[in-house]
Amino acid sequence: MKTAVLSHSHKTGEHTTGRAWIELDKENLYQNVDALCRFLPNECQLMPAIKANAYGHGSVLIAKALQEKGIQSFCVASIKEGIELRKNGITGEILILGYTWPEQFSSLRKYKLSQTVIDFFYAQSLNAYGKKIHVHLKVDTGMHRLGERAEEIRKIKKIFEYENLAVDGIYTHLCASDGISEEEKKYTYKQADIFFELLEKLRSLGIVIPKKHLCASYGLLRYPELAGDYARVGIAVYGLLSHREDQKRGSISLKPVLSVKARISIVKNLYQGECAGYGMQYTAKENRRIAVLSIGYADGLPRMLSCGVGHVLINGYMAPIIGRICMDQTLVDITDVPNVKQGDIAVLIGKSGDLEITAYDIAEQTGTITNEIVSRLGTRLERIMS
Ligand SMILES: *Cc1c(COP(=O)(O)O)cnc(C)c1O
Repeated sequence: MKTAVLSHSHKTGEHTTGRAWIELDKENLYQNVDALCRFLPNECQLMPAIKANAYGHGSVLIAKALQEKGIQSFCVASIKEGIELRKNGITGEILILGYTWPEQFSSLRKYKLSQTVIDFFYAQSLNAYGKKIHVHLKVDTGMHRLGERAEEIRKIKKIFEYENLAVDGIYTHLCASDGISEEEKKYTYKQADIFFELLEKLRSLGIVIPKKHLCASYGLLRYPELAGDYARVGIAVYGLLSHREDQKRGSISLKPVLSVKARISIVKNLYQGECAGYGMQYTAKENRRIAVLSIGYADGLPRMLSCGVGHVLINGYMAPIIGRICMDQTLVDITDVPNVKQGDIAVLIGKSGDLEITAYDIAEQTGTITNEIVSRLGTRLERIMS
């Protein structure tokens, strides 16, 4: 169904009847994958992290597109995320990075999911389930989140010997690979040393080392030589790094995959002295024209962008957010934007005409990283892949 909307937005969005949506650029996704693959050492495979609804992008659409491109391994945070992928036809290896409750061990087998062994006791409990479960063993080398401690060699050896565990991988997570200080570099190399020394010791005890992996996005880009057999890359697949400076400094060209857009539900005058929105936080100093967007903080638009902190793009012009962002709606000042009509499209992240708002802009305006901005985009937004 074609609507008579004149806008600079991407053509796919013009066809949606949705109030607010996300447009995914498959070409950019593929370009990011190609760029990342050039960083991979020989024998190392990309294992995209598609947890948290693929960092807000939509896990099924992203996984399908990646699978079409030949990706055969994925990681997610929870069993629920893994099951959703399987139910939508995703094949290959799916590694759950987080904890799975023993009540759900049967689903690990039913959906052929690989579970992270988060410590020795958890390995015992997985083994006690009594049927073969595929696992990757996580080792704590210094982040002190999940993982059996690297010095517990005898316990780790025992995990390999459990009859019901098929240990397909062993991995650790770097906690400072995004840092550029000497201290952080030293810490990263120390974690890698602890990990590789552990592997050596296990080898000397007769254990055949399975797939090994250490690196997430920053790890791969800064320390490609450490990557091993898999690179568990999340944020960079989506064309972003956490901070804008890292993107500028880096030697990789990444392209944002996602745009966020919303319909204008009404356009109206606001007369001098009138206020708009909750809490009377905006008062018109002179006659203004405003538009109401059908998107709000429940969709992941940070409320911190209220009252002029953030802006949106309409027909290639910038329109500041006025008043407080509501749960489902947002007010913008369109006095300086010509010919805005009901049904027009506002761009919250993405391009319009010559202008662009990036996840970096919003992350900076709200004091956080791009990861948080995109991963909190709500499930109410439609996702459309171009
Ligand atoms: C989220 C996560 C990743 C991916 O991290 P990015 O920084 O987004 O690339 C990799 N490994 C683990 C254990 C994770 O939790």
